[in-house]
Amino acid sequence: LNFFHFFRTRVLVFFFFHTLLYGKKNDNFQMKKEKILNLFVGSNNQGKIKEIRDLLPKKVQILTPKNFNLKSPNENGKTFEENSFLKAKFYSKKTKMICLADDSGLEIDSLNRLPGIYSARWGGKKSNFNLAIKRVYEELKKNDVNWYKIKQTARFVCALTVYWPNNKFINVSGKVEGTISRFKKGNNGFGYDPIFIPLNKKLTFGQMNPKEKYKIDHRAKAFKKIKKFF
Ligand code: IMP
Repeated sequence: LNFFHFFRTRVLVFFFFHTLLYGKKNDNFQMKKEKILNLFVGSNNQGKIKEIRDLLPKKVQILTPKNFNLKSPNENGKTFEENSFLKAKFYSKKTKMICLADDSGLEIDSLNRLPGIYSARWGGKKSNFNLAIKRVYEELKKNDVNWYKIKQTARFVCALTVYWPNNKFINVSGKVEGTISRFKKGNNGFGYDPIFIPLNKKLTFGQMNPKEKYKIDHRAKAFKKIKKFF
């Protein structure tokens, strides 16, 4: 009887770990095995779509809500991660495609990390970036008329979610630290790029050429973590 018990325990332990290890490996294997060639990018922000397109290999075909005449979901998450997840899931369910969604924004420390998840909303209904930048300067001034005499530390944050039609998903994020420029500078990029100076650089993202921005920005950093799928 003792021998039987001993044997049975070993068999159970073997199967337990086998399922745990092999089962997991198999899931990852399936997610990794087939490189993504058709991708739905869940965004209406043209600046963001351009940047994502530039980060992906050329062979990846991209579709966006415009191609499907789809409305965007309600972004009622409390964090970047919650919002990128809900967008990726929403669009993947609607299109039955593998979907990539990005939720990103600018956090300014002296404004209690605002605009944060409200970064797009500060641009009003039409996502007017000039309006959003104007609001940043107004809020900084409201806080302290001499705001520009102090280093206004800030960061861009980007959460990315890839959501597969079989309900598998992955969440990653990246950030880039910097400061707010006293004046708006440069016409490159989008959003708050003209007022953000990345750490140890002199130019704003708006003044840098896109290649320079992609070397260090929040989106590229998050992207590195999901590169293996493409
Ligand atoms: P979302 O579409 O709700 O994620 O809004 C993100 C908003 O954050 C954009 O509309 C921009 O205002 C801002 N943002 C995110 N990433 C960047 C960037 O790389 N440069 C400038 N602004 C950005």
